[in-house]
Amino acid sequence: MVDIVQKGNPVLRQTARTIPVDEIRSAKIQKILEDMKNALTLQDDGVAIAAPQIGQSLRIFIVSKKVAALAKGHEDMSEKGLSKFKDVVYINPEIKKLSRIKLRLDEGCLSVRYLYGKVERAEKATVTAYDEKGKKFTKGASGLLAQIFQHETDHLNGILFVDKADDIVEVLPEKHA
Ligand code: ZN
Repeated sequence: MVDIVQKGNPVLRQTARTIPVDEIRSAKIQKILEDMKNALTLQDDGVAIAAPQIGQSLRIFIVSKKVAALAKGHEDMSEKGLSKFKDVVYINPEIKKLSRIKLRLDEGCLSVRYLYGKVERAEKATVTAYDEKGKKFTKGASGLLAQIFQHETDHLNGILFVDKADDIVEVLPEKHA
């Protein structure tokens, strides 16, 4: 089992390292992707994870299949219900475009338990990245996925949402129910 690194650990404050494209298919990187997916799956409220959050200072984030399911209005979030959706890997992601329109959004983080706050984010974002096979792609997003792109890219640059948030409150998990 892979633990999620918590605020205070210096790895969360480092600028994560770019991965040479010819190393993406290496056993080492593929193992890290596997570890990240497993760590994310174990977090009921997790929608994405960045490599520094499992202690790897590398430019990778993964968006949970839950996000694709939510976007489709899918309600069954059990493992079986989610089986037709896939976690999406972003390696060496770069934000290419942000909308001028900004929204004040609720945000939390698997590495900043259990704080939540309001963060200003662009409503739309476009990223380029490499997938787990080393193929480059471009993805535009709005809503939750655009917010995730910005939150996760911040992780790769050593930034946590609490650096930018206001109205921060602590909400312990038992109150979520
Ligand atoms: Zn986070």
